[in-house]
Amino acid sequence: MDKTKVLEKYLPPDAAPLISRWIDYFKCEFKISRSRNSKFGDYRPPFQGKGHRISVNHNLNPYAFLVTTVHEFAHLHTWNQHQHKVRPHGNEWKLNFKAMMQPFFEKNVFPPDITHAITAYLNNPGASSCSDLNLYRTLRAYDVVKESVTTVEKLPLNVLFKLKDGRVFRKGEQLRKRFRCTEVSTKRIYLFSPVAEVEWIKD
Ligand SMILES: [Zn+2]
Repeated sequence: MDKTKVLEKYLPPDAAPLISRWIDYFKCEFKISRSRNSKFGDYRPPFQGKGHRISVNHNLNPYAFLVTTVHEFAHLHTWNQHQHKVRPHGNEWKLNFKAMMQPFFEKNVFPPDITHAITAYLNNPGASSCSDLNLYRTLRAYDVVKESVTTVEKLPLNVLFKLKDGRVFRKGEQLRKRFRCTEVSTKRIYLFSPVAEVEWIKD
């Protein structure tokens, strides 16, 4: 099947032709990957005869898929310009990410709240990591919602919730950022990110 047609299944359709051209232009091996909890996407620079490689999780909603894809292409472009001489999410990367988002803003690919969250992220000099909470929450709002799956911050205090591996916890107070939760079987305390995905166990 034509590359653009495949990409249209994962991206906002108006964004697919340009991403398809980038894959060719940057000679990048682009892989739609299984879902990884630790990251949305990944860029690997040329190494031992292999070229640029980007992978993006298959189960992201189209807006999150696009933001992740542009994030990774900005790493590629930054690597072409500077190789290992700059920090992964330093100013050089930020400038490239900003510039590479522009064509999608011009095509009005994003709903206004996402445009706003990305703009705020790009203009915040402190936003150096892949995991900006506000941007993440805004993107997540466009996921197709699974019944009982939620995030720790949305649970009421003291309710029980379950992780994918089956362990059960009781939600506790929020400390500075993370929530203090108790594993029911061991009584041990664990700190959870507000956006950790969990399943609410309702009585
Ligand atoms: Zn990154």
